[in-house]
Amino acid sequence: MKIQLAEHYALCFGVRDAIAQAERLAAQAPLTILGELVHNPVVRERLARRGARETSQVSPDSLGAAQVMITAHGASDAKREAWRGAGFAVADGTCPLVRSAHEKLRALVRQGWFPVVIGQPGHAEVLGLTGDFEGACVIEKDADIERLPQHARYGVVSQTTQPLDRVVSLVETIRRSRPESEVAFHDTVCQPTKNRQAAMRQILAECDTVVVVGGRNSNNTRQLVEAARAAGREVFHIERAEELRSEWFRGCRGAGLTAGTSTLTGHSVTLLCEVAFIAYAGFAANRRLLLLLERRCASVAVARRVFWSWLCGNLILGAQLAWVLRPLIGSPRLAVQFLRDDPLRGNFYESVFRAFLHLF
Ligand code: SF4
Repeated sequence: MKIQLAEHYALCFGVRDAIAQAERLAAQAPLTILGELVHNPVVRERLARRGARETSQVSPDSLGAAQVMITAHGASDAKREAWRGAGFAVADGTCPLVRSAHEKLRALVRQGWFPVVIGQPGHAEVLGLTGDFEGACVIEKDADIERLPQHARYGVVSQTTQPLDRVVSLVETIRRSRPESEVAFHDTVCQPTKNRQAAMRQILAECDTVVVVGGRNSNNTRQLVEAARAAGREVFHIERAEELRSEWFRGCRGAGLTAGTSTLTGHSVTLLCEVAFIAYAGFAANRRLLLLLERRCASVAVARRVFWSWLCGNLILGAQLAWVLRPLIGSPRLAVQFLRDDPLRGNFYESVFRAFLHLF
């Protein structure tokens, strides 16, 4: 079985910076985050351990902390001002690309265009985008276009994590269904989302099974899942390593691996290593051992740990053997793989991991 790791996957810079900001602020004083900082339970647990609590409160009532933080999804100016007016110190974790979508919509409204947002109704980012414009319309699918009030000029932006092809198709449908109106469209889908969608399409060519790592309520993760499913692949959406099952890879010829923008890179690499090990187990007779361990051990996690240790021992022995026999087996392939995967990107372990995948 061949394992493909998407070229772009996991944490984006917007989420990375928001997490760093929340952890820094929580270390200084009690911090309350206004909503889910990102839609990922692993990240949220990590923040809670560092003292950043979350609230779903929409208005500034009694809170334990004097310091609150807007999430990476952004917020309307009205909401921001409401918290400031109530005496809270408001830290802003809004991603610059979400802020840019706000600015584009605001400029359109200022020029007299009717505000339209293509996105998921009720999502924090969409609520933030529309929050300052009474009557703004949210479009998620073709049927929603019927609800658009009659207007001579529609100004359209999109939620940053929507698939661009769907956004463009909806804009075309608006144009066709309202031929008498003008439609101005700003593409506000963020580059990290576009990169992850494109990287996913690349790996689909050689995969019949795809594992997507990320929060179940994360919009961009769900879009990756839907894209793989629409392409007819077997898709498994997981949040944690414990959810992986070796039987998913039985009979599989190629497995693709990716993760949404709110998934910690370290976390997804760990998961991907597990997939590689499980695949190796399925590939060789070791699968039997893993299944036996999963049945006999107290938990799947313990079984995997025992299996890892056993397998690592084997790999070390195998590497030593390969080293001794390298004149016979042409070991430069491994070195070339290291270089091609660009260890200068700073994630040495990822490069090691990619090289490891290539061995199987
Ligand atoms: S997904 Fe895009 S818009 Fe959202 S935080 Fe990441 S970079 Fe920013």
